[in-house]
Amino acid sequence: MSQVKAYGAQDKDADLKQIDIERREVKDKDVKIQITYCGVCHSDIHTVRNDWGGSKYPVVPGHEIIGKVVEVGNQVSNFKEGDLVGVGCMVDSCRECDPCKNDLEQFCESGMVGTYNGKDKHLGGHTFGGYSEMIVVEEHFVLSIPKNLDEKAVAPLLCAGITTYSPLRHWNVQEGDKVGVIGLGGLGHMGIKLAHAMGAKVVMITTSPKKAEDAKRLGADEVLISKDEEAMKKHANSFDFLLNTVPVKHDINPYLALLKIDATMVMVGAIEPLEPMHGGSLIMGRKRVAGSLIGGIKETQEMLDFCGEHNVVSDVEVIDMQNINDAYERVVNSDVKYRFVIDMESLRN
Ligand code: NAP
Ligand code: ZN
Ligand code: ZN
Repeated sequence: MSQVKAYGAQDKDADLKQIDIERREVKDKDVKIQITYCGVCHSDIHTVRNDWGGSKYPVVPGHEIIGKVVEVGNQVSNFKEGDLVGVGCMVDSCRECDPCKNDLEQFCESGMVGTYNGKDKHLGGHTFGGYSEMIVVEEHFVLSIPKNLDEKAVAPLLCAGITTYSPLRHWNVQEGDKVGVIGLGGLGHMGIKLAHAMGAKVVMITTSPKKAEDAKRLGADEVLISKDEEAMKKHANSFDFLLNTVPVKHDINPYLALLKIDATMVMVGAIEPLEPMHGGSLIMGRKRVAGSLIGGIKETQEMLDFCGEHNVVSDVEVIDMQNINDAYERVVNSDVKYRFVIDMESLRN
């Protein structure tokens, strides 16, 4: 075991502060990674603040991890010292159940092991995430990073990227489809970029008129202000696909009115009870609401390779570890452009 510096919260009302945590010794299939950058996902905040219940303290968040390999186990074949690698939201799963065998580790029947707040089968207790100097992860859950992409701007692909890529692929978004991305935050801005790279006609659906210009720069063809009822009416029954990234309870009925017959809105944001949905919102037009959770490891690598090919990365604001608590406030206030990424050098110094 080795002790490393990390940033964590001791309870749901506490600020994040520097703490020491343990990392296991490198086992046969393990990769030890010196973390260079870690993205700040809204899920980190939900977990620190116990919004979903079940948080285990101290919480050391962080599941958009980029770093350099510093050591590998005897049986590791895909990585070597010095490689630039990534780790996303999972660090383990049973590898034997049907979902695991079908590259859907996120739906492992025994429960995937989250990068943080998961059950640590090596050291006991719970797992600690990427707001730390170092992490040890089994090879299967380590991703290769395309060399042409900017290291710090790649970090958010490990969660925000795959969470938006996977539903776009699963629901078979095609060139020319009219795709709406709801909520311009970390996930939303990746949704725009990826849907645009897939050739879709992208409409940014936002509560923040001030983000309109940015949305277009990021690849949106059009911007729709969701509070503008007239504008919403103009787009009624016209979307092939909607990706809803809103992080909190909200009324989905106005968005369902935007879907074409047989079209689907996929929820990736709010993991909590929503405002009541009117049955008629679905019945009138044979519409669908579905959900999606990150993506499997194979698909995550496919997404990273796609981003390498299409030169897609995140728009990031790089911060020092010490400024994390202010960054959280800004994320909660929908004031981030469009992902905070922590420079882990600041923790080492
Ligand atoms: P974020 O950066 O805070 O972005 C969310 C955006 O939603 C905001 O910027 C805002 O955009 C919009 N919004 C906020 N409150 C709203 C409200 N009351 N009504 C309508 N729109 C609202 O968050 P994120 O990191 O992208 O994460 C989004 C959610 O996805 C979080 O709940 C996170 O936990 C979850 N998540 C899920 C998965 C998964 O696998 N399913 C993976 C990662 C994250 P505008 O200003 O443009 O309206
Ligand atoms: Zn996340
Ligand atoms: Zn499994």
